[in-house]
Amino acid sequence: MTNDLKIIENNRDALLLAQAGALLHNLGKVTSQFFDNKLNGDKGAAPKFKYQHILRFIEMDYQQLQKNIPNLHTALQQKENKNVLDSKTVDSLKRCFELPSPFDDRSYRPGDMIEYLGQGKQDNKLYSKPPQWITDIFNNGSRLTHLMNRSHRGASGGEKQDICAKGQTKINEIYKSTPFGWESRAFNLNDVDNHKRDIEKIIQTYLDPKIVSLNFEKFCNDIYPHLNEVIADTQRPINDVTIWDIGHSGMAFMLTQTIGLMMTQCRTIDHDELAKVECDNTLFWRVMGIRIDGLNYMENAPSLADMRVRYDLLNKRLEYITQTLEEMPVAIKVYTDENGSFYIFPDLPITNSLVQTILDRLQSQLTVDGVALKCSLSEPLVNHPDDKGCYIGEYISRQIDIEKPIVYDPKSFTDPWTNKESYEICVACGVRPQGYGANLLKDYLDNPKFYSDKAKSRDICCICMDKRRDVAKKWATQGLKDTTVWIDEVADNNGRIALIAGQFDFREWKMWYPGKNTSIKMVESQSFARQRRVWETTRQFWEEAGDFSKLRKTQRLQITGKLNPKASGETPGHYHVYQLLLGNVKLSAVWDNKNSRFIIASNLEHISKSQRLGIDIKDWLNAGQEIKIEEPTGYGSKNKDWGSITIDKPEPIPGSSYIPAIPILAEPRTFMALVPADKSLDIMDDIKNKYELEMGKVRNRLPIHLGMVFADYKTPLRVILDAGRRMLKQESCHVDKWHVTKKEGPSSDISLLPNHLKNNKHFAEFVRLELSRDGRRAVWHVPLKMGDGNTEDEWYPYVFVQYDKEGKTPAGRTHMFETPCPWNKDIQGIAQSTWLVHASDIQDGDVVYFTSATLDFQWLDTSGRRFEIAYDDRGCRLDVQRRPYMLDEIETIKKIWKTLCCHLTSTQIHGMNELIETKRSEWESSKVFRQFCRNTIANLDWKKKNDEYAWEIDKKPEEEWLNEWTDYAECGLLNDIIELYMKILKKNPENECEEIS
Ligand SMILES: [Zn+2]
Repeated sequence: MTNDLKIIENNRDALLLAQAGALLHNLGKVTSQFFDNKLNGDKGAAPKFKYQHILRFIEMDYQQLQKNIPNLHTALQQKENKNVLDSKTVDSLKRCFELPSPFDDRSYRPGDMIEYLGQGKQDNKLYSKPPQWITDIFNNGSRLTHLMNRSHRGASGGEKQDICAKGQTKINEIYKSTPFGWESRAFNLNDVDNHKRDIEKIIQTYLDPKIVSLNFEKFCNDIYPHLNEVIADTQRPINDVTIWDIGHSGMAFMLTQTIGLMMTQCRTIDHDELAKVECDNTLFWRVMGIRIDGLNYMENAPSLADMRVRYDLLNKRLEYITQTLEEMPVAIKVYTDENGSFYIFPDLPITNSLVQTILDRLQSQLTVDGVALKCSLSEPLVNHPDDKGCYIGEYISRQIDIEKPIVYDPKSFTDPWTNKESYEICVACGVRPQGYGANLLKDYLDNPKFYSDKAKSRDICCICMDKRRDVAKKWATQGLKDTTVWIDEVADNNGRIALIAGQFDFREWKMWYPGKNTSIKMVESQSFARQRRVWETTRQFWEEAGDFSKLRKTQRLQITGKLNPKASGETPGHYHVYQLLLGNVKLSAVWDNKNSRFIIASNLEHISKSQRLGIDIKDWLNAGQEIKIEEPTGYGSKNKDWGSITIDKPEPIPGSSYIPAIPILAEPRTFMALVPADKSLDIMDDIKNKYELEMGKVRNRLPIHLGMVFADYKTPLRVILDAGRRMLKQESCHVDKWHVTKKEGPSSDISLLPNHLKNNKHFAEFVRLELSRDGRRAVWHVPLKMGDGNTEDEWYPYVFVQYDKEGKTPAGRTHMFETPCPWNKDIQGIAQSTWLVHASDIQDGDVVYFTSATLDFQWLDTSGRRFEIAYDDRGCRLDVQRRPYMLDEIETIKKIWKTLCCHLTSTQIHGMNELIETKRSEWESSKVFRQFCRNTIANLDWKKKNDEYAWEIDKKPEEEWLNEWTDYAECGLLNDIIELYMKILKKNPENECEEIS
């Protein structure tokens, strides 16, 4: 072990105490007094509350307090500052610890991170010069608390004095916002005090002076739900960051900087240097990245169970690395997604011996089944966007986008192969020989040869067979209700599934708010805590979008009976998957040894359909019937005959109703889930509605991209996932030149709103903008209120205006500010200052920047079809230029299908489509082709529905309606819709029950 690591180990207990104090550095805000003071000020019950001095250390530490800071001294005598915390809590935060140079200037207590934070008008004089009271209080200095002050500055951004913020006024109706201006009711004063009490209990338990080594991980996990509920400021728009965001980010900066300074003892650091910021800044941090192309790794799994295994393996490995780094402690995790994690790290070069020791220690952990996790260390970074240097928040955002390595670890490929050259490779991991590893698994030691042969017959290694069984076991023992891990169960009644892929593009996302007074500039607020809130909010969006409980299905079926194995004495493998042969129809089933039963893992309605069994499966299966059992092998090879079962009778399993959907990813950027194909459009609609609600104020700068990949449930998973990944390459190109063709509002007339936006307080007043560009059209309903339905939103719904209808720079709008626009760059790529106009001040004819949300789909009738999913530099599909669609067009798509379905027969629809598509290839786009489309549509024998023609239902003159439909046909939308509904989803026009094949 190197000396450097020894320094950390020798000081570990002290570092953890400092860390605990840092996590709690804003604890004073988790009090009803703080919120009372914020909302009621002088008129409330806590006019002189000092949230920084809830421990009142300064009274004891500072002899000159009364003389030098009389206001604070007087305030601390008021009742609101007395007994804020229980005396046991104070004792726990008072225990002393010592650190080596340069933090050997005094003996510290965890509570010092709260007490000497140095925030607020008066308190910042603790560290600013003169009077730099801190050296009055502690003659040798108090460098660690000064560092806490600097760390807090990075976490919180410290820009709020420049933002035009407004306090909330209703004490029992406090709102918490997302960084996108979407508010929800937060808490009342009672709740805050309850959180405080719970936190105090946790402090007393973990920081009790009798406990030498703090279990920081548990302490942190226990405290998280409380700190994450309470916002750090009630003022709008900065009511979006929680005490957790600030506490944890501040802690990460403080701990890692402390370690860095402890390691470079040759460097002297004092209060003067710690006070240097902006262009004089001398404090730097680094970021360690542990990255892998996670989707690529998961994609190579042959089955869903194997993918689940890979996902778990990857997560476990990342968790282990986090634990290793945080337990030392030497680094703190601040971001994680499907491609790995980022950690705040001390500013030490890669050549430093501590860094080398850490890398050596991680080395053996940086591999998952043959694939290596790539570890990288950044250059020195700054923790505040105003400081000179590369800002840590921006660095991580950039890395999230680019760093997705896939590197192989050769050692894992060679070791298991010693003396096994003639074996085939395992189809699940693609690393080890088939049948390998029986002697490495405890459960297999009683009969290694048996298990090895069994694995070989399934074309996999024992290690993969064991992990696969774990997935099935978990499902059978805990998950029979609610979840599924089988693609067969996800399939719709036509045996089709859809992979839904979604992505937020926050590469150009910037946070800025109107400045105070008469400023015409927006104030940027890229604080690190806020940046983390953005990631957290989009992650939560996807988690909620992945709640498919409305798809819930009825109970599963079990089959019991007498087993007739081919090899005498053999029993089916516990929790292994088998195929039961019902005539020509194969049924997936899992053997549950404990209950001697097969659990059916297929969509029973699909099995029962006319082209398959033809009758309900329960009626098909009879007691006494003998059913063949097959053991599946790898892809492409023939199943093995296992024997048969003479069944008793099939029975539903009580309490086994489940949701036939499989969430795969819900990360800050990316979402993926497998759902029944026939439900996919409804799910897309739900996601779109949620987006229009919760991101409604910022749709013009935070685009979402959605894709649907349709396939037969037997299509190899890797093909489906690969197609989904290709779909995630959608982008909003052409952000500029969107014409505002129509503006309505500001209005409170909810009849102008679509159903999903009605009755939401943010939309109590709104503006409706119709935008168009190159024949594409978007309708943007911009909410103008905050969550209470009354407060005007002055902070979020701003639009970059390129020019007005006369081609001039916008002028004379009530709310307009300037800020650099990421879509308006000069030749050198520097974003140009551009006018942001409040949505309520947008005018007809304005030309604006707008990031369009998109939607694409692909039917994988063959595996190779996925290669057609590719986009050109204008964001259009190479093969079908009209795609991706604007997300708005989902409404049009649904409406067109409804019309087709109500007014034509399938023969008419197919006939029309064939005529038009044949001519399309002959004539391409021309006036003649357009006329042909029009004639074809006009000549159809359109049926009435409820005594009305389609154009009557749409309330349009026949001519206008016909023009609109000619557009749909000419651009190919009609063809797409017919493909989507009739070919992929196998829907029929109304009153036609026979199947379309
Ligand atoms: Zn394997």
